[in-house]
Amino acid sequence: MMPNNEIESQPSCEDELNTGLLTVAEAQARILDGIMPVSETESVPLHTALDRVLAEAIVSLIDVPSHTNSAMDGYAVRAQDLPAEGVRAFPVPGTSWAGRPWLTPIEPGQAIQIMTGGMLPEGADTVVMQEQVERDGDSVRIGSGHRCGQNVRAAGEDLAVGQPVFTPGKRLTSADIGVLASLGLAEVNVFRRLRVAFFSTGDELRAVGEPLGPGEIHDSNRYTLYGMLKKLGVEIIDLGVVRDRRDLIEQAFSEAAARADAIITSGGVSVGAADFVKETLEKLGRMTFWKIAMKPGRPVTFGQINAAVFFGLPGNPVSVMVTFFVFVRQALLKMTGDTGASTAWTVRARTTSALRKRPGRYEFQRGVLEQSGPGEFSVRSAGAQGSGILRSMSEANCFILLGPERTGVSEGETVEVQPFQNLI
Ligand code: AMP
Ligand code: MG
Repeated sequence: MMPNNEIESQPSCEDELNTGLLTVAEAQARILDGIMPVSETESVPLHTALDRVLAEAIVSLIDVPSHTNSAMDGYAVRAQDLPAEGVRAFPVPGTSWAGRPWLTPIEPGQAIQIMTGGMLPEGADTVVMQEQVERDGDSVRIGSGHRCGQNVRAAGEDLAVGQPVFTPGKRLTSADIGVLASLGLAEVNVFRRLRVAFFSTGDELRAVGEPLGPGEIHDSNRYTLYGMLKKLGVEIIDLGVVRDRRDLIEQAFSEAAARADAIITSGGVSVGAADFVKETLEKLGRMTFWKIAMKPGRPVTFGQINAAVFFGLPGNPVSVMVTFFVFVRQALLKMTGDTGASTAWTVRARTTSALRKRPGRYEFQRGVLEQSGPGEFSVRSAGAQGSGILRSMSEANCFILLGPERTGVSEGETVEVQPFQNLI
Protein backbone atom coordinates (compact mmCIF):
# COMPACT_ATOMS: atom_id res chain seq x y z
CA MET A 1 0.00 0.00 0.00
CA MET A 2 1.21 3.45 -0.80
CA PRO A 3 2.28 5.49 2.24
CA ASN A 4 -0.02 8.38 2.89
CA ASN A 5 2.62 11.03 2.49
CA GLU A 6 3.76 9.86 -0.91
CA ILE A 7 2.93 12.23 -3.74
CA GLU A 8 0.85 10.61 -6.41
CA SER A 9 1.98 11.97 -9.71
CA GLN A 10 0.10 9.25 -11.58
CA PRO A 11 -3.41 8.82 -10.21
CA SER A 12 -3.74 5.55 -12.10
CA CYS A 13 -1.07 3.95 -9.89
CA GLU A 14 -3.26 4.19 -6.86
CA ASP A 15 -5.82 1.57 -7.66
CA GLU A 16 -3.26 -0.99 -8.71
CA LEU A 17 -1.51 -0.61 -5.38
CA ASN A 18 -4.60 -1.27 -3.35
CA THR A 19 -4.02 -4.98 -2.93
CA GLY A 20 -3.30 -4.66 0.80
CA LEU A 21 -6.76 -3.27 1.49
CA LEU A 22 -9.64 -5.25 2.89
CA THR A 23 -12.09 -6.53 0.26
CA VAL A 24 -15.76 -5.62 0.47
CA ALA A 25 -16.72 -9.24 1.21
CA GLU A 26 -14.10 -9.53 3.98
CA ALA A 27 -15.27 -6.31 5.56
CA GLN A 28 -18.92 -7.43 5.42
CA ALA A 29 -18.06 -10.77 6.97
CA ARG A 30 -16.00 -9.23 9.77
CA ILE A 31 -18.71 -6.75 10.60
CA LEU A 32 -21.41 -9.41 10.73
CA ASP A 33 -19.14 -11.65 12.82
CA GLY A 34 -18.58 -8.98 15.37
CA ILE A 35 -22.16 -8.00 16.15
CA MET A 36 -24.94 -9.48 18.22
CA PRO A 37 -28.67 -9.01 17.84
CA VAL A 38 -30.57 -7.21 20.61
CA SER A 39 -32.03 -9.64 23.11
CA GLU A 40 -34.70 -7.60 24.91
CA THR A 41 -38.23 -8.14 23.70
CA GLU A 42 -41.56 -6.43 24.12
CA SER A 43 -45.15 -7.31 23.48
CA VAL A 44 -46.89 -5.02 20.99
CA PRO A 45 -50.41 -4.79 19.61
CA LEU A 46 -50.62 -6.58 16.28
CA HIS A 47 -51.36 -3.49 14.21
CA THR A 48 -48.06 -1.91 15.33
CA ALA A 49 -46.05 -5.05 14.60
CA LEU A 50 -45.54 -4.37 10.89
CA ASP A 51 -41.80 -4.36 10.07
CA ARG A 52 -40.92 -5.39 13.61
CA VAL A 53 -38.85 -8.54 14.15
CA LEU A 54 -40.64 -11.46 15.72
CA ALA A 55 -39.05 -12.66 18.98
CA GLU A 56 -41.16 -15.75 19.61
CA ALA A 57 -42.04 -18.93 17.77
CA ILE A 58 -45.63 -18.95 16.61
CA VAL A 59 -47.50 -22.25 16.63
CA SER A 60 -51.10 -22.37 15.52
CA LEU A 61 -53.53 -22.96 18.41
CA ILE A 62 -56.55 -23.13 16.13
CA ASP A 63 -57.46 -24.44 12.71
CA VAL A 64 -57.58 -21.79 10.01
CA PRO A 65 -60.20 -21.86 8.68
CA SER A 66 -61.83 -23.15 11.83
CA HIS A 67 -64.59 -24.98 9.95
CA THR A 68 -65.00 -26.65 6.59
CA ASN A 69 -66.65 -24.10 4.32
CA SER A 70 -67.61 -23.29 0.78
CA ALA A 71 -65.23 -21.64 -1.70
CA MET A 72 -68.15 -20.59 -3.90
CA ASP A 73 -71.71 -19.35 -3.82
CA GLY A 74 -73.81 -22.41 -4.70
CA TYR A 75 -75.39 -25.52 -3.24
CA ALA A 76 -73.94 -27.97 -0.72
CA VAL A 77 -74.79 -31.59 -1.42
CA ARG A 78 -73.67 -35.13 -0.66
CA ALA A 79 -71.56 -36.28 -3.62
CA GLN A 80 -73.25 -39.69 -3.57
CA ASP A 81 -76.59 -38.02 -4.40
CA LEU A 82 -75.28 -36.35 -7.58
CA PRO A 83 -76.52 -37.88 -10.85
CA ALA A 84 -73.97 -39.85 -12.90
CA GLU A 85 -75.90 -38.72 -15.95
CA GLY A 86 -78.95 -36.59 -16.67
CA VAL A 87 -80.32 -34.05 -14.24
CA ARG A 88 -81.70 -34.48 -10.73
CA ALA A 89 -83.92 -32.14 -8.71
CA PHE A 90 -82.87 -31.49 -5.06
CA PRO A 91 -85.24 -29.88 -2.52
CA VAL A 92 -83.59 -26.85 -0.85
CA PRO A 93 -84.74 -26.51 2.78
CA GLY A 94 -82.48 -23.56 3.69
CA THR A 95 -79.31 -21.52 3.37
CA SER A 96 -75.91 -21.56 5.05
CA TRP A 97 -74.63 -17.97 5.12
CA ALA A 98 -71.06 -16.95 5.97
CA GLY A 99 -71.21 -16.61 9.75
CA ARG A 100 -74.81 -17.91 9.93
CA PRO A 101 -74.61 -21.67 9.41
CA TRP A 102 -77.43 -24.05 8.57
CA LEU A 103 -77.31 -26.21 11.66
CA THR A 104 -79.49 -29.13 10.60
CA PRO A 105 -77.63 -32.08 9.08
CA ILE A 106 -78.29 -32.47 5.39
CA GLU A 107 -80.64 -35.30 4.49
CA PRO A 108 -80.16 -37.65 1.53
CA GLY A 109 -81.21 -36.00 -1.70
CA GLN A 110 -81.24 -32.43 -0.28
CA ALA A 111 -79.22 -29.41 -1.34
CA ILE A 112 -78.50 -26.53 1.06
CA GLN A 113 -77.95 -23.17 -0.52
CA ILE A 114 -74.52 -21.94 0.60
CA MET A 115 -72.53 -18.69 0.35
CA THR A 116 -68.77 -18.32 0.01
CA GLY A 117 -67.33 -18.87 3.50
CA GLY A 118 -70.55 -20.50 4.68
CA MET A 119 -70.01 -23.56 6.89
CA LEU A 120 -70.72 -26.85 5.17
CA PRO A 121 -73.79 -28.47 6.77
CA GLU A 122 -73.04 -31.73 8.54
CA GLY A 123 -73.14 -34.58 6.03
CA ALA A 124 -72.47 -32.40 2.96
CA ASP A 125 -69.11 -32.82 1.23
CA THR A 126 -69.42 -31.06 -2.12
CA VAL A 127 -70.49 -27.66 -3.44
CA VAL A 128 -71.97 -27.07 -6.88
CA MET A 129 -71.53 -23.52 -8.18
CA GLN A 130 -74.61 -21.39 -8.48
CA GLU A 131 -73.80 -20.79 -12.17
CA GLN A 132 -74.02 -24.56 -12.83
CA VAL A 133 -77.53 -25.19 -11.48
CA GLU A 134 -81.07 -24.23 -12.34
CA ARG A 135 -83.10 -22.94 -9.43
CA ASP A 136 -86.73 -23.85 -9.59
CA GLY A 137 -88.79 -22.53 -6.64
CA ASP A 138 -87.95 -24.59 -3.56
CA SER A 139 -85.70 -26.97 -5.43
CA VAL A 140 -82.64 -26.88 -7.60
CA ARG A 141 -81.74 -28.94 -10.68
CA ILE A 142 -78.19 -30.26 -10.83
CA GLY A 143 -76.60 -32.13 -13.72
CA SER A 144 -73.74 -34.62 -13.96
CA GLY A 145 -69.95 -34.17 -14.14
CA HIS A 146 -69.24 -32.92 -10.63
CA ARG A 147 -66.41 -34.15 -8.44
CA CYS A 148 -66.73 -35.20 -4.81
CA GLY A 149 -65.21 -32.50 -2.54
CA GLN A 150 -65.19 -29.76 -5.17
CA ASN A 151 -65.35 -26.10 -4.06
CA VAL A 152 -64.84 -27.05 -0.44
CA ARG A 153 -62.18 -25.59 1.86
CA ALA A 154 -61.19 -27.98 4.60
CA ALA A 155 -60.89 -26.85 8.21
CA GLY A 156 -57.20 -26.19 8.94
CA GLU A 157 -56.15 -26.24 5.27
CA ASP A 158 -54.41 -22.85 5.71
CA LEU A 159 -53.01 -23.51 9.20
CA ALA A 160 -53.72 -26.60 11.27
CA VAL A 161 -53.70 -26.79 15.09
CA GLY A 162 -50.14 -27.43 16.29
CA GLN A 163 -48.53 -26.40 13.03
CA PRO A 164 -45.38 -24.23 13.33
CA VAL A 165 -46.15 -20.91 11.64
CA PHE A 166 -43.19 -18.55 12.20
CA THR A 167 -39.81 -18.80 13.88
CA PRO A 168 -38.15 -15.92 15.77
CA GLY A 169 -36.17 -13.51 13.60
CA LYS A 170 -38.86 -12.95 11.01
CA ARG A 171 -39.41 -9.35 10.02
CA LEU A 172 -43.17 -9.08 9.86
CA THR A 173 -44.72 -8.19 6.51
CA SER A 174 -48.33 -7.24 5.81
CA ALA A 175 -49.06 -10.88 4.99
CA ASP A 176 -47.44 -11.99 8.25
CA ILE A 177 -49.54 -9.73 10.43
CA GLY A 178 -52.55 -10.97 8.46
CA VAL A 179 -51.60 -14.56 9.28
CA LEU A 180 -51.19 -13.64 12.96
CA ALA A 181 -54.59 -11.97 12.86
CA SER A 182 -56.15 -15.08 11.32
CA LEU A 183 -54.77 -16.97 14.33
CA GLY A 184 -56.58 -14.51 16.57
CA LEU A 185 -53.44 -13.07 18.19
CA ALA A 186 -53.99 -9.54 19.48
CA GLU A 187 -50.41 -9.05 20.63
CA VAL A 188 -47.09 -10.40 19.52
CA ASN A 189 -43.59 -10.52 21.03
CA VAL A 190 -40.99 -8.63 19.05
CA PHE A 191 -37.42 -7.53 19.67
CA ARG A 192 -37.17 -4.04 21.04
CA ARG A 193 -36.31 -1.39 18.51
CA LEU A 194 -32.64 -0.84 17.84
CA ARG A 195 -31.36 2.58 18.95
CA VAL A 196 -29.05 4.23 16.47
CA ALA A 197 -27.27 7.51 17.18
CA PHE A 198 -25.65 9.49 14.40
CA PHE A 199 -23.90 12.77 13.82
CA SER A 200 -21.98 14.63 11.17
CA THR A 201 -18.49 15.97 11.69
CA GLY A 202 -17.00 19.01 9.99
CA ASP A 203 -16.25 22.68 10.58
CA GLU A 204 -17.62 23.46 7.13
CA LEU A 205 -21.12 22.16 7.85
CA ARG A 206 -24.14 24.40 8.24
CA ALA A 207 -27.64 23.29 9.08
CA VAL A 208 -30.36 23.61 6.47
CA GLY A 209 -32.03 26.99 6.58
CA GLU A 210 -28.77 28.72 7.55
CA PRO A 211 -26.88 30.89 5.07
CA LEU A 212 -23.49 29.64 3.93
CA GLY A 213 -20.26 31.49 4.74
CA PRO A 214 -17.15 31.14 2.58
CA GLY A 215 -16.17 27.48 2.17
CA GLU A 216 -19.23 26.22 3.97
CA ILE A 217 -21.76 23.60 2.80
CA HIS A 218 -25.08 22.36 4.07
CA ASP A 219 -25.03 19.16 6.08
CA SER A 220 -26.78 16.70 3.76
CA ASN A 221 -25.43 13.47 5.21
CA ARG A 222 -27.62 13.68 8.26
CA TYR A 223 -30.65 13.74 5.98
CA THR A 224 -29.61 10.80 3.82
CA LEU A 225 -28.68 8.84 6.95
CA TYR A 226 -31.94 9.77 8.61
CA GLY A 227 -33.87 8.52 5.59
CA MET A 228 -31.97 5.27 5.33
CA LEU A 229 -32.33 4.57 9.05
CA LYS A 230 -36.01 5.38 8.90
CA LYS A 231 -36.43 2.66 6.26
CA LEU A 232 -34.99 0.14 8.71
CA GLY A 233 -37.51 1.08 11.37
CA VAL A 234 -34.89 1.78 14.05
CA GLU A 235 -35.12 4.39 16.79
CA ILE A 236 -33.11 7.37 15.61
CA ILE A 237 -31.02 9.59 17.88
CA ASP A 238 -29.85 12.61 15.91
CA LEU A 239 -26.85 14.21 17.62
CA GLY A 240 -26.44 16.99 15.05
CA VAL A 241 -23.20 18.40 13.72
CA VAL A 242 -20.01 18.09 15.73
CA ARG A 243 -17.14 20.47 14.99
CA ASP A 244 -13.69 19.14 14.13
CA ARG A 245 -12.30 19.34 17.65
CA ARG A 246 -10.87 16.41 19.58
CA ASP A 247 -12.74 17.21 22.78
CA LEU A 248 -16.10 17.75 21.07
CA ILE A 249 -15.80 14.56 19.05
CA GLU A 250 -14.87 12.65 22.18
CA GLN A 251 -17.84 14.07 24.04
CA ALA A 252 -20.21 13.16 21.20
CA PHE A 253 -18.83 9.62 21.08
CA SER A 254 -19.40 9.16 24.80
CA GLU A 255 -22.93 10.49 24.66
CA ALA A 256 -23.77 8.32 21.66
CA ALA A 257 -22.30 5.21 23.30
CA ALA A 258 -24.36 5.81 26.43
CA ARG A 259 -27.62 6.13 24.52
CA ALA A 260 -27.42 3.85 21.52
CA ASP A 261 -26.79 0.31 20.33
CA ALA A 262 -25.08 1.60 17.21
CA ILE A 263 -23.31 4.84 16.35
CA ILE A 264 -22.87 6.21 12.86
CA THR A 265 -20.71 9.19 12.02
CA SER A 266 -19.92 10.77 8.68
CA GLY A 267 -16.75 12.59 7.78
CA GLY A 268 -13.45 12.86 9.59
CA VAL A 269 -12.25 9.35 8.79
CA SER A 270 -9.62 10.20 6.22
CA VAL A 271 -6.12 11.30 7.03
CA GLY A 272 -6.67 15.05 6.97
CA ALA A 273 -5.39 17.20 9.81
CA ALA A 274 -8.92 17.61 11.18
CA ASP A 275 -9.93 13.97 10.97
CA PHE A 276 -10.31 12.88 14.57
CA VAL A 277 -12.80 10.06 14.29
CA LYS A 278 -10.27 7.27 13.99
CA GLU A 279 -8.05 8.37 16.86
CA THR A 280 -11.03 9.03 19.13
CA LEU A 281 -12.38 5.59 18.41
CA GLU A 282 -9.00 4.09 19.26
CA LYS A 283 -8.90 6.06 22.47
CA LEU A 284 -12.43 5.34 23.73
CA GLY A 285 -13.01 1.92 22.27
CA ARG A 286 -11.71 -0.51 19.74
CA MET A 287 -11.13 0.03 16.05
CA THR A 288 -11.45 -2.93 13.72
CA PHE A 289 -10.30 -1.62 10.35
CA TRP A 290 -10.40 1.45 8.32
CA LYS A 291 -9.62 0.93 4.62
CA ILE A 292 -11.59 -1.06 2.11
CA ALA A 293 -10.86 -1.72 -1.56
CA MET A 294 -14.03 -0.10 -2.81
CA LYS A 295 -15.14 2.96 -4.65
CA PRO A 296 -16.63 5.17 -3.50
CA GLY A 297 -16.03 4.95 0.23
CA ARG A 298 -12.56 3.64 0.84
CA PRO A 299 -12.01 4.96 4.35
CA VAL A 300 -14.54 3.28 6.62
CA THR A 301 -14.03 2.50 10.26
CA PHE A 302 -15.77 -0.13 12.22
CA GLY A 303 -15.42 -0.69 15.92
CA GLN A 304 -16.94 -0.66 19.32
CA ILE A 305 -17.33 1.82 22.17
CA ASN A 306 -18.47 0.05 25.31
CA ALA A 307 -21.53 -1.92 24.22
CA ALA A 308 -22.20 0.18 21.13
CA VAL A 309 -21.16 -0.80 17.63
CA PHE A 310 -19.47 2.01 15.75
CA PHE A 311 -19.51 2.82 12.03
CA GLY A 312 -17.37 5.75 10.89
CA LEU A 313 -18.50 6.50 7.36
CA PRO A 314 -16.71 8.81 4.93
CA GLY A 315 -17.87 12.38 4.55
CA ASN A 316 -18.58 12.49 0.85
CA PRO A 317 -22.33 12.38 0.30
CA VAL A 318 -22.33 9.46 -2.15
CA SER A 319 -19.78 7.52 -0.12
CA VAL A 320 -21.97 7.77 2.95
CA MET A 321 -24.91 6.25 1.15
CA VAL A 322 -22.90 3.52 -0.54
CA THR A 323 -21.07 2.45 2.61
CA PHE A 324 -24.30 2.55 4.58
CA PHE A 325 -25.97 0.32 2.01
CA VAL A 326 -23.08 -2.09 1.69
CA PHE A 327 -22.05 -2.46 5.35
CA VAL A 328 -24.26 -0.70 7.84
CA ARG A 329 -27.69 -1.71 6.59
CA GLN A 330 -26.90 -5.41 6.69
CA ALA A 331 -25.27 -5.06 10.12
CA LEU A 332 -28.16 -3.11 11.61
CA LEU A 333 -30.64 -5.62 10.23
CA LYS A 334 -28.72 -8.37 12.00
CA MET A 335 -28.73 -6.30 15.19
CA THR A 336 -32.52 -5.92 15.01
CA GLY A 337 -32.75 -9.71 15.27
CA ASP A 338 -33.77 -10.15 11.63
CA THR A 339 -32.48 -13.54 10.49
CA GLY A 340 -34.27 -13.51 7.17
CA ALA A 341 -33.27 -12.65 3.67
CA SER A 342 -33.53 -8.89 3.86
CA THR A 343 -30.49 -8.81 1.60
CA ALA A 344 -30.68 -6.89 -1.61
CA TRP A 345 -31.05 -8.89 -4.79
CA THR A 346 -28.98 -8.58 -7.90
CA VAL A 347 -30.02 -8.99 -11.51
CA ARG A 348 -28.11 -9.13 -14.76
CA ALA A 349 -28.65 -6.27 -17.17
CA ARG A 350 -27.34 -5.17 -20.51
CA THR A 351 -25.58 -1.87 -20.23
CA THR A 352 -26.47 0.85 -22.68
CA SER A 353 -23.57 3.06 -21.55
CA ALA A 354 -19.87 2.40 -21.64
CA LEU A 355 -18.55 2.39 -18.06
CA ARG A 356 -15.10 3.50 -17.04
CA LYS A 357 -13.33 1.41 -14.44
CA ARG A 358 -9.79 0.66 -13.37
CA PRO A 359 -8.84 -2.68 -11.88
CA GLY A 360 -8.17 -2.74 -8.14
CA ARG A 361 -11.25 -1.70 -6.29
CA TYR A 362 -14.83 -2.91 -6.14
CA GLU A 363 -16.93 -0.16 -7.67
CA PHE A 364 -20.54 0.66 -6.91
CA GLN A 365 -21.49 2.82 -9.87
CA ARG A 366 -24.83 4.53 -9.82
CA GLY A 367 -27.13 3.31 -12.57
CA VAL A 368 -30.65 3.55 -13.89
CA LEU A 369 -32.16 0.10 -14.32
CA GLU A 370 -35.04 -0.34 -16.71
CA GLN A 371 -37.04 -3.31 -17.83
CA SER A 372 -36.46 -3.74 -21.55
CA GLY A 373 -38.73 -6.76 -22.03
CA PRO A 374 -40.26 -9.63 -20.06
CA GLY A 375 -37.49 -10.70 -17.65
CA GLU A 376 -34.99 -8.51 -19.45
CA PHE A 377 -33.23 -5.46 -18.09
CA SER A 378 -31.04 -2.71 -19.36
CA VAL A 379 -28.98 -0.31 -17.30
CA ARG A 380 -27.30 2.97 -18.00
CA SER A 381 -24.98 5.10 -15.97
CA ALA A 382 -26.72 7.70 -13.80
CA GLY A 383 -24.11 10.23 -14.88
CA ALA A 384 -21.02 11.65 -13.24
CA GLN A 385 -19.74 9.18 -10.66
CA GLY A 386 -17.82 11.49 -8.33
CA SER A 387 -18.33 10.69 -4.65
CA GLY A 388 -19.57 14.22 -4.04
CA ILE A 389 -22.27 14.12 -6.70
CA LEU A 390 -25.36 13.27 -4.69
CA ARG A 391 -27.59 13.92 -7.69
CA SER A 392 -26.27 10.67 -9.18
CA MET A 393 -27.78 8.82 -6.20
CA SER A 394 -31.02 10.67 -6.63
CA GLU A 395 -31.28 9.77 -10.28
CA ALA A 396 -30.12 6.20 -9.80
CA ASN A 397 -32.22 3.24 -8.77
CA CYS A 398 -29.42 0.69 -8.62
CA PHE A 399 -25.74 0.09 -8.15
CA ILE A 400 -23.85 -1.37 -11.06
CA LEU A 401 -21.53 -3.84 -9.34
CA LEU A 402 -18.09 -3.93 -10.89
CA GLY A 403 -15.76 -6.39 -9.15
CA PRO A 404 -12.15 -5.50 -8.31
CA GLU A 405 -10.60 -7.26 -11.28
CA ARG A 406 -13.01 -5.75 -13.76
CA THR A 407 -11.84 -3.08 -16.19
CA GLY A 408 -14.04 -0.80 -18.27
CA VAL A 409 -17.32 -2.09 -19.65
CA SER A 410 -18.37 -1.45 -23.22
CA GLU A 411 -21.88 -0.71 -24.31
CA GLY A 412 -23.88 -3.91 -24.80
CA GLU A 413 -22.01 -5.97 -22.20
CA THR A 414 -23.92 -7.65 -19.39
CA VAL A 415 -23.28 -6.41 -15.86
CA GLU A 416 -24.54 -7.34 -12.41
CA VAL A 417 -26.87 -4.76 -10.93
CA GLN A 418 -28.26 -4.33 -7.42
CA PRO A 419 -31.55 -2.42 -7.33
CA PHE A 420 -31.90 -0.27 -4.22
CA GLN A 421 -35.22 1.38 -4.84
CA ASN A 422 -37.30 1.26 -1.66
CA LEU A 423 -34.35 -0.09 0.33
CA ILE A 424 -32.58 3.18 1.08
P1 AMP B 1 -14.14 14.33 5.38
O1 AMP B 1 -14.20 12.85 5.38
O2 AMP B 1 -14.55 14.93 6.69
O3 AMP B 1 -12.78 14.78 4.95
O4 AMP B 1 -15.17 14.84 4.32
C1 AMP B 1 -15.05 14.50 2.96
C2 AMP B 1 -15.90 15.41 2.10
O5 AMP B 1 -17.25 15.23 2.43
C3 AMP B 1 -15.62 16.89 2.30
O6 AMP B 1 -15.73 17.52 1.04
C4 AMP B 1 -16.72 17.34 3.22
O7 AMP B 1 -17.01 18.71 3.10
C5 AMP B 1 -17.87 16.49 2.76
N1 AMP B 1 -18.79 16.29 3.86
C6 AMP B 1 -18.46 15.86 5.09
N2 AMP B 1 -19.54 15.77 5.88
C7 AMP B 1 -20.59 16.17 5.13
C8 AMP B 1 -21.98 16.31 5.39
N3 AMP B 1 -22.49 16.00 6.59
N4 AMP B 1 -22.78 16.75 4.40
C9 AMP B 1 -22.27 17.02 3.19
N5 AMP B 1 -20.97 16.89 2.88
C10 AMP B 1 -20.12 16.50 3.84
MG1 MG C 1 -14.38 16.62 7.65
